[in-house]
Amino acid sequence: MPKKIIIFFGPPGSGKGTQAELLAKKTGWKKISTGDLFRAEIAAKTVLGQQVEKYLKAGKLVPDKLTASLVEKNLRQKASGFIFDGFPRNRRQLKDLLDLFKKIIKTSEAIYALEVAVSDGEARERLGQRRLCACGLVYHLVYNPPISAGVCDICGGKLFMRNDDQPKVIAGRLKIYHRQSALLLDYWRKQGRLIKIDGEQAIKKIHEEIMEKLKSLKLV
Ligand code: AMP
Repeated sequence: MPKKIIIFFGPPGSGKGTQAELLAKKTGWKKISTGDLFRAEIAAKTVLGQQVEKYLKAGKLVPDKLTASLVEKNLRQKASGFIFDGFPRNRRQLKDLLDLFKKIIKTSEAIYALEVAVSDGEARERLGQRRLCACGLVYHLVYNPPISAGVCDICGGKLFMRNDDQPKVIAGRLKIYHRQSALLLDYWRKQGRLIKIDGEQAIKKIHEEIMEKLKSLKLV
């Protein structure tokens, strides 16, 4: 059985992380989210965490070599499929990923890119209203607010804004995304392996559409 590979694309704030998580839960495939992995390294104060912290704070991309070695380590886990969230982000990383597939996965013919499309205005609005808790829960001040302002419903922790969700940093992240994703989306489109989903719908509806598309491709 070829391993299933789904590579999520979408600007910051598109909800692709949430959709990747839902898909991972449904299928049991392993999710490789480079942003989450980097944040975990920073929280654990590892050597890698210390090397990458300044890039995440500034909303800049971590050097490709560091990123590729993190992906390689995770791609060596046992799993019937992998879901990528936040990687690859440029031409170099696409090449690194294709090389890693050849080296580690070998037999996969079931590789698809999945674009969660939202406008920049919507992305900006969502990120500005996003609040996190250290326990991992994510809130939106309008669409998914906590019961008591500023406090996590589940653990009572104080909610905070991601450093890189500040308006100035968001503008830069969106610019980087558009500059670099165009080429990547084009690559998968030409391969006939690009699935596009309207990301400006309810979370559940988007998930259902993703499952339908994957079913029609006999991936699930
Ligand atoms: P994300 O959670 O995907 O928005 O990523 C947050 C931050 O982690 C980015 O702004 C980068 O600093 C870093 N990062 C995540 N994925 C990558 C990647 N593929 N290449 C380089 N840096 C990354």
